[in-house]
Amino acid sequence: MHTLVLRRGKSESLSRRHPWIFSGALKPLPDDLKEGEVVRVVSSDGEYLATGHWQIGSIAVRVLSFDDEAIDYAFWHRCLSAAVGLRRTLRLFGESANTACRLVHGEGDGLPGLVIDLYGATAVVQAHSIGMHYARHDIARALTEMDGLYINNVYYKSATTLPEKATLEGEREGFLLKKADVEDVAIENGLRFRIDYLGGQKTGFFVDQRDNRNLVEKYACGRRVLNMFCYTGGFSVYALRGGARHVTSVDSSEAAVALVRENVALNFPEAQNHEAVACDAFRYLADNGKNYDLIILDPPAFAKRVSALKNALKGYTRLNAAAMAQLPPGGLLFTFSCSQAVSPHDFRLAVFTAAARTGRRVRILHQLHQPADHPISIYHPEGEYLKGLVLEVE
Ligand code: SAH
Repeated sequence: MHTLVLRRGKSESLSRRHPWIFSGALKPLPDDLKEGEVVRVVSSDGEYLATGHWQIGSIAVRVLSFDDEAIDYAFWHRCLSAAVGLRRTLRLFGESANTACRLVHGEGDGLPGLVIDLYGATAVVQAHSIGMHYARHDIARALTEMDGLYINNVYYKSATTLPEKATLEGEREGFLLKKADVEDVAIENGLRFRIDYLGGQKTGFFVDQRDNRNLVEKYACGRRVLNMFCYTGGFSVYALRGGARHVTSVDSSEAAVALVRENVALNFPEAQNHEAVACDAFRYLADNGKNYDLIILDPPAFAKRVSALKNALKGYTRLNAAAMAQLPPGGLLFTFSCSQAVSPHDFRLAVFTAAARTGRRVRILHQLHQPADHPISIYHPEGEYLKGLVLEVE
């Protein structure tokens, strides 16, 4: 195993257990270092600091351990058992009303670069780092050996999350384990959703809006609901259960629109009060926004990186202003940002600017977040990525 040495004065963030080491903090690297390999990191005085995965990029090392330990099968088994234990504490297992949850949330579970979502007995594993790509077989095996958790299938879905240019051994996508038919319907709070492992975005479904969808259900009664950026239509199905007068789901992707129709039919085969439209969100809002009194805005991450922040904030302001301007008095706006680079403060400022621009009286009713199965390490505040506000517009 190679040892990487930090430059003098660069160990402070590691001593505060931040799990990223930036490339500029490291002394020149050994010539034969291989992307994805496990490295030990020491201070300029040779003191052990951390063990992690190295790869080329601004985040050079993702820390797996602050103890001088081997990253072997026992390590993966131990970390995944801890992740399972937390979800058990959260009572996410064994309830028939919920078969979907996030089992591993990167840094929040001490495993930077790894995301695992569970859909019944199928786990969808997503590597965001090359080190995790090489650990995938150990991870898949450990998943099948968790106490009290029965996993039939492990699907590896990393085509869009691994660095595009890296030359990697092994496939970026495919089954690592397949013992049974894949159940392609997951249950969330008693509602059924088709999970598109193979073609879908992320791991096939956005489990991170589970709690916030409940709130939409609570307020939807009697309202005309517009679910913008609907993807699989999670918010739409909850709004229908909540007694919405009418629900429109909008997404620019035809595939998403087909999926939302399927999910509505899966839960409410007789529903006459739902329509799904493939259209650009800004366009749809401008032409039809006036017809709704509850609008949900859950766009894709406008800022994928910090350098894109300024434009992203402008985008959030423009989008929110477009919705606020159209809502009738008493209208509700559920507005979200899932950009990690946008802080809760920045997001609120962008929405504030939108409100000021429209001149409406706007009040914050709820401040929303990612659910507990997407935990945030206190040492890694960047892990707080999903932010939402429920606003009343007068
Ligand atoms: N709200 C969803 C997740 C949204 S993901 C849920 O609860 O599951 C973001 C979605 O926005 C994607 O499906 C993408 O196709 C769609 N999208 C991206 N740009 C868009 C645009 N300009 N207009 C409408 N939809 C867009």
